[in-house]
Amino acid sequence: MKEYGLIGFPLGHSFSQKYFTQKFEREHIDGKYSLFAIESIDQLPHLLENKAISGLNVTIPYKEQIIPYLDGLDESAASVGAVNVVKVTYEGNIRKLIGFNSDVYGFMNSIRPMLCSQHTKALVLGTGGASKAVASVFKTLGVEFKYVSRRPCDNILTYNDLSDEVIKSHLIIVNATPLGMFPKINECPAIPYNYLTSNHVAFDLIYNPDETLFLKKAAEQGAKTKNGLEMLYLQADRSWEIWTE
Ligand code: NAP
Repeated sequence: MKEYGLIGFPLGHSFSQKYFTQKFEREHIDGKYSLFAIESIDQLPHLLENKAISGLNVTIPYKEQIIPYLDGLDESAASVGAVNVVKVTYEGNIRKLIGFNSDVYGFMNSIRPMLCSQHTKALVLGTGGASKAVASVFKTLGVEFKYVSRRPCDNILTYNDLSDEVIKSHLIIVNATPLGMFPKINECPAIPYNYLTSNHVAFDLIYNPDETLFLKKAAEQGAKTKNGLEMLYLQADRSWEIWTE
């Protein structure tokens, strides 16, 4: 039986474990998906002594720390500088570990159907790990983008810089901050929502609740909106593709 799992610390409720366990049952796949809450990334080699492990998902705090343990990165992980999927293969006794970033695939395929020729410029709210996957997708799509951060920094906008003009010239706005996520559902990024129009696309990486305050306020202005649920499923599907292709 092939084994898969999620490494991170601490690990609480896991979408991935539920998703893959249900998939294995539904599709009669002889596999097992476990949670590996390792306290330090240097426990990874010990974990991999189990040669049944064929693939891993990686979460906080190891998405970057895992890179020195890998034999290579595919383009998605290299462009983001973070790994959330590892493919484990063996040639004889020689183990090979390659890192991927399936958030790139998930975000690309979730936002692309929402875009048309007028969507050439984007604002990316937040500058954490998820925002880097978003940025990588915009580079690939040829969408010009600006990060928006609480901290003033070269080439990055702050929330105070978001004038009528800035909002009207950036028709894609992505929330890549945790603001509005359950249980703090009354929070939202501090952008001037009244300048949004029906030409805007507002995408929230958050998937709980279904409609964040950010999406609600954007929808009230007539913007096209989408939450992060499809992206979440797409990145999980992509993990499976990577492990089995
Ligand atoms: P993160 O590192 O915790 O935060 C991202 C950025 O948000 C931070 O770097 C910060 O940027 C900004 N931020 C944090 N707290 C804030 C606050 N109180 N007010 C304003 N800005 C704040 O999170 P992440 O890992 O990048 O993930 C971001 C969101 O995406 C999370 O909600 C996560 O669940 C979601 N996500 C969804 C998927 C999916 O498949 N749907 C995949 C990945 C992540 P500045 O310091 O520059 O302001």
